[in-house]
Amino acid sequence: MIYFKRNLLFLLFLSFIIISCKSKTEKKSSTETEEFSVDQQSVKKIDIHAHYNYERDYLPALFNKWNMQGILVDVSIADSVGVNRNWNEYVVHAKAQPDLFFLCSSLIGNGIDELDFAEKQIERLKVEIKEGARMVKVWKNFGMVTKDTSGKFIQIDDERLKPIWNFLKERNIPVMSHIGEPIQAWRPLDDPNNPHYPYYNDAPEYHAYKHPEIPTYETIITARDNWIANNPELKILGAHLGSMSHDVSMVAERLDKFPNFYVEAAARFGDLVGQDSEKVKAFFEKYQDRIMFGTDYGNYTSQQSISSEELKLEEQNLDADFLRLWGYVATKDSIVERGQKNIGLGLPVKILNKFYYQNAADFLKLEQ
Ligand SMILES: [Zn+2]
Repeated sequence: MIYFKRNLLFLLFLSFIIISCKSKTEKKSSTETEEFSVDQQSVKKIDIHAHYNYERDYLPALFNKWNMQGILVDVSIADSVGVNRNWNEYVVHAKAQPDLFFLCSSLIGNGIDELDFAEKQIERLKVEIKEGARMVKVWKNFGMVTKDTSGKFIQIDDERLKPIWNFLKERNIPVMSHIGEPIQAWRPLDDPNNPHYPYYNDAPEYHAYKHPEIPTYETIITARDNWIANNPELKILGAHLGSMSHDVSMVAERLDKFPNFYVEAAARFGDLVGQDSEKVKAFFEKYQDRIMFGTDYGNYTSQQSISSEELKLEEQNLDADFLRLWGYVATKDSIVERGQKNIGLGLPVKILNKFYYQNAADFLKLEQ
């Protein structure tokens, strides 16, 4: 009996040692994950700004690897023939991959002078909300491209759009706003290391510096700010850091002023890398409930139209892009993004979870 009791005591002692050792190692690893080496798979992610028009055999596995879902963001662009959209492709893709993708519809100002413009748009949006739209995107053609019949560029705070905002407020549908362009669009682009050099080289029609008829950056941003202020119950997500990506202080000013304003960072990581990492880190810390992850990545051709080698390369590039962006926000490693060099932000896991997932899930009211 005594022998048994001794054995029992010994066993208890042994298990105490094991438990205390275990808790020590657990404690150590959780301290480490506060700052560095967070497992990129354990952080859930939503890419709130994606453009995957077509299915890819590799996408489900790649998105699962990154623990990621995406919002397929439609854009309305007009040419001489009419308005072009990708809505139908996105609906097909989201239906085929309902665990991966959600939908965002879009709005353009063409036809704004017609008396039933707002009514017609609302009817269309009702249908698209039924089809799954959780957000509506307005693009830079408001402010920079589309004119009304009087020849004036239509700004986003135009009174004729008001019934549409009221409808979206009632339905609790937020708006993604890509209004204006980065400030560099209004400046000469001589430096190939400018993060926006390749884009304006490819799309000179949006390089406002060369088109003096396009309203100024200040005019467009002021109209955008008026619109946010005039619709305090409408939730607005400023795409591309609200077109103020060159200076996080300008973004901070708007986030302070407008409680209904949020931002996402798609295609503007180069501008962030170009700023002081301590300043950007403080920005992410202060506004940790208002900044979301977005990429602007996507595809524009069907899988059948590209070779298996191209497909493999596409997958590898996408994986490398996700890893590079992760490296910037989650580690303090060196990074080169769009010609800009710096070290990463090394954000704590609590902020990474909000930036990559929770803020978008709350904003779009996604089932979790
Ligand atoms: Zn986009």
